[in-house]
Amino acid sequence: MPPDSSAPRQDPGRVLVIGAGPAGLTAAYQLGKAGHPCTIVEGTSVVGGISQTVVRDGWRFDIGGHRFFTKVPEVEALWHEILSDEDFMLRPRASRIYYQGKFYAYPIKPLNALRNLGVIEAIRCVLSYGWVRIHPPKDQSTLEGYIAANYGWRLYGHFFRTYSEKVWGVPPSQISAEWGAQRIKGMSLFKAVWEPLRARFAGRRAGRRQVTSLIEEFQYPKFGPGMMWERCRDLVVEQGSTLLFRAPVTSIGHRDGRAVSVSTPEALHEVDQVISSMPFNALLRAMDPPVPAAVLAAADDLGFRDFLSVALVVPADKVAWTDNWIYIHAPEVKTMRVQNFGSWSPHMVKEGHNVLGLEYTVEQGDDWWNASDEELIAKGKAELEALGLMQASDVEAGYVVRMPKAYPLYDSTYKANVEILRDWLRHNASNVHPVGRNGMHKYNNQDHSMFTAMLTVENLLGASHDIWNVNVEEEYHEESSGKGGTGRDAPILPKRA
Ligand SMILES: Cc1cc2nc3c(=O)[nH]c(=O)nc-3n(C[C@H](O)[C@H](O)[C@H](O)COP(=O)(O)OP(=O)(O)OC[C@H]3O[C@@H](n4cnc5c(N)ncnc54)[C@H](O)[C@@H]3O)c2cc1C
Repeated sequence: MPPDSSAPRQDPGRVLVIGAGPAGLTAAYQLGKAGHPCTIVEGTSVVGGISQTVVRDGWRFDIGGHRFFTKVPEVEALWHEILSDEDFMLRPRASRIYYQGKFYAYPIKPLNALRNLGVIEAIRCVLSYGWVRIHPPKDQSTLEGYIAANYGWRLYGHFFRTYSEKVWGVPPSQISAEWGAQRIKGMSLFKAVWEPLRARFAGRRAGRRQVTSLIEEFQYPKFGPGMMWERCRDLVVEQGSTLLFRAPVTSIGHRDGRAVSVSTPEALHEVDQVISSMPFNALLRAMDPPVPAAVLAAADDLGFRDFLSVALVVPADKVAWTDNWIYIHAPEVKTMRVQNFGSWSPHMVKEGHNVLGLEYTVEQGDDWWNASDEELIAKGKAELEALGLMQASDVEAGYVVRMPKAYPLYDSTYKANVEILRDWLRHNASNVHPVGRNGMHKYNNQDHSMFTAMLTVENLLGASHDIWNVNVEEEYHEESSGKGGTGRDAPILPKRA
C-alpha cells in the first residue's frame, strides 16, 4: 500500500499531532514537506518515545535495542532522507542464548543444544523426546503441550518455559498453541536434527530463505535510534512546525462528530485534524464530553506491559562476548535479555568501557517498578554475578530506565475493544486519526508506526488509505518459521484478573 502521490491535494487546515515519537514526528515531517506545518504536543521532555536513546552522563542506551529494518520501501527512503548514509552503520545481528554458563545458538539448534548440555543431559533430552512420541501430552492446545509434544519435556524445560514466562508474564501452559504452531511451523526435534543432516548428505546447504538476510544484519544510527528522532525534530522545527514539550493531552473537546480542540495543562488548541500516537485507550478517555460507559469500559479493558532496563557501565575488557544481546533463560534471575550496547555501536560507549543493559518486562506498580534505582542497580549487579557474566564489583556505574506501556497487550478481548473505540471515533470524532504502536494498540515497530503516520498524512491531503490494513503480522511472517526475533508478533495472553 504505497503512499498515493498522485492523489488530489487538499488543505488539511490546523493539524495537531499528539506525541513526538516515530509516528508523531513522521506525521509532522510529512506534513511540513507538503507545506502544512503543524503543532506537536509531547507529554515528556524528549523526542523518540520508546525509540529514544537515553543519555546519562555521556552513556547512551536504547529502550531495548532498536534495529532498523523494514520491508516498506517508503520508510527505508525516509530513514535515509532524515539521516545521511554516513550516520548509519550496517551491523551484523549476533544474539545467542546464555544458559548454565554456556552460549547456545538462537533460535535453538537442537544439535548445538544437545552438544552444549553434555552427553548425559543430551541422552535424557532424546529419551524425553522418545517418551512424548509414545505418550504425547494430553493437552496440546497450549504452548506448553505443543512444544513438549514436538521437542520433549526436558528441552521444553531448558529452553522454552522460563523465557516465555519472563517475556509474557505467564507460563506457556496459559498461552494458546496456535501462536507456537505459527512460529515453529511443524518443526520437531527429529526434523530439526535430521533436515540439516539430510541437506548436507544431499550436498547442498540447508534452505536459506531470502528474508533471513533481513534479520542477519540491520541498520543502526551510530548514536542510537534517538539520533533519527533528534534530527527529525530539528527538521520539523525548521519546516515551521511548533513542538511543545511537557504538554500531555488532558482533554479533547468534540461536537457534531468532530474534535474541535485539544487541551494540555498550559493551552487549548483549536484544531481541524488530530493525528494521535498517544495510547488509544487514553485518547478515548480524554474525550470531552466523555465517551459512553460501554466505550469507556472497552478503553479500560485494554492493557499494556511495561519495561524496565538497568544499564551497567563495565570495563570493556571484561565483556567476553560480542553479541548485540543475549537471551537469559536461567530461572534464578529475573532479567530476560542483556544488551551489549558497545556491540550495537562503538559510539554508544566511551573508550575502554561498555554498557550492559539488563532488561525486564514488569508491571507499573509492581515491586520491581516501585523499587528505588539504587535497589535495582544492586539487583542488576547481583544478577550479572549470579549468571557468571561479571563480578558485581567490576560494575562502575548504573542507571535505571522505566518505560511504561512498552507493549500493547493482546488478550482475548483486545480486538473487540479496539473495534469499539474505532467505531466511536468514526461517529463522534472522525477527524481524530490514531497512528503508531500504542496509538493503534498494535505491535507496530518503528517502520509500521511511521508508515501508518505517512499514510494518514496522505489521507489528510486527499487520499483514502485504510491505515488499519498496515499489517504487522503477515508482512513479517518469516518470524513464524522461528528464524529470528523481530518482536513483531505476540501471543494472545490470558485476561488479567
Ligand atoms: C523493548 C522494545 C524493543 C523494540 N525494538 C525495536 C526494534 O528493534 N526496531 C524497531 O523498529 N522497533 C522496535 N520497537 C518498537 C518501537 O519502539 C515502536 O514501534 C515505536 O517507538 C512506536 O512509535 P510511536 O510513535 O507509535 O510510539 P511511541 O514511541 O510510544 O511514542 C509516543 C509518544 O507520545 C507521547 N505521549 C503519550 N501520551 C501522550 C499524551 N497524553 N500527550 C502527549 N504526548 C503523549 C509519548 O511520550 C511518546 O513520546 C521496540 C519496542 C520495545 C518496547
